[in-house]
Amino acid sequence: MLFRLVDSIAGRLSPGTLADIYQRVPESVLTRVRHDRFRQTVRWAARHSAFYREAFRKHGIDAAQVRVPADLGDFYTTPDDVVANPESFICKPASIVFESSGTSGKNKQIYYDQAELQAMSQVDAAGLRLMGVAPQDRVANAFDFCMWIPGMITHNSLMAAGNFCMAFGKVDPVEVYRRLKQYQFNVVMGEPTWLIRLTELAEKHGSVPLKLFIGGAEEMPAEAIPWMQKVWQGVRVKMCYGSVELGSALGYQPCDTFNGYHTDDLSFATEIIEPNVEGFGELVFTTLLRRVMPLIRYRTRDVTRIIPGACACGKRGLCISRFRGRRDEMIVASGGNLYPLMFSNILEHVPGLSGDWKVVFKLEGIREIMEIHLECSRTDHDEIRRQVQASATEQYPDLMKNLAIGIFDMRILIHRKGELRWQRKLKRMIDQRYQTESSAAPATGNDHPIGEESVAHA
Ligand SMILES: [Zn+2]
Repeated sequence: MLFRLVDSIAGRLSPGTLADIYQRVPESVLTRVRHDRFRQTVRWAARHSAFYREAFRKHGIDAAQVRVPADLGDFYTTPDDVVANPESFICKPASIVFESSGTSGKNKQIYYDQAELQAMSQVDAAGLRLMGVAPQDRVANAFDFCMWIPGMITHNSLMAAGNFCMAFGKVDPVEVYRRLKQYQFNVVMGEPTWLIRLTELAEKHGSVPLKLFIGGAEEMPAEAIPWMQKVWQGVRVKMCYGSVELGSALGYQPCDTFNGYHTDDLSFATEIIEPNVEGFGELVFTTLLRRVMPLIRYRTRDVTRIIPGACACGKRGLCISRFRGRRDEMIVASGGNLYPLMFSNILEHVPGLSGDWKVVFKLEGIREIMEIHLECSRTDHDEIRRQVQASATEQYPDLMKNLAIGIFDMRILIHRKGELRWQRKLKRMIDQRYQTESSAAPATGNDHPIGEESVAHA
């Protein structure tokens, strides 16, 4: 009862005040609120969702007895559960649906209602203040508005924060570049690869002093940050962690000291499961405020670890490290979520290929390169490359749009038949972008590259 009163008061505070209170409230109060919200969420889900009712029954869970996540034992929800039957999660009528790609090629659907969107906007508006966006700052929002969530959620939070903004969506960076002076934008939000492209334009044609870049949805190459700061005359760069399932793109705040994020411990209960000796494991979260489609102990497949102790940057909330990779074969790269089935679909329309192929993602400096390795006995290599591009454009226009606006470079390397397979199972997607010797983690499932590829006749 007390907590409901707190919620209704919080809804009327300015984002700055809300951020301030969140930073100052004693830990014991936050813990009580979090536990209370967790219990309410589990009970609500057990009462109203067919999925949870059945899953709890199978696991012998009595929702009334659950107090903290560990009380749920080995019960988790997975992206596959959401893909298989998203409607079975729904507890009350929804007013909007967002989608994101699943590794099976079938999209995940996440439902919200209007009240949830509004509540998220308030939390995210407070998040913007914590990140350093002041009320007078002018913001260019270049997050994508296409089917998935970041553009619109960011837009809503900017509206709730009362900042002047323009809802660009993920347009060609040149469109934003041309308008920086005209509207005096000093904060730009977008995906890292997109922000890199914008910075390349500024390096070539001149820059203006910017205050803040806010990125998300992908990791930012570490070398890109000092370069951005130089080009944009001191811009600060902050990276957020968000997803369609989390909803809140700003829910996991960038840390000012560590190269990681602070969790929002009032909106989510966060856990790291199955950690390795270094503490790296899979990030699992429970949504604490959502009533349309609550996600309880949802396995994100993203691998990170908790940085112990209070954080020197002074931000509240658990501090988690930068992400080390994923537990499945999906790779977040080239401005989207990419998975093996996509490339099978692209390549099956090109005649004469062996069926063995792999895609390697790497960085050259800060530039992201997608290398598609194929095997083919045909000798008309230019025509093969044209056919691959045409098939990709036909089936995945968003991917090719990202190529067209310079988000990444694509190379198509053609090998003789039999050259790619060096072990029984061919690893289809290899992410070499952020691998250092110590971070080639077994937890990500990434194996080592096979050394220099034969590209002599590519
Ligand atoms: Zn911190």
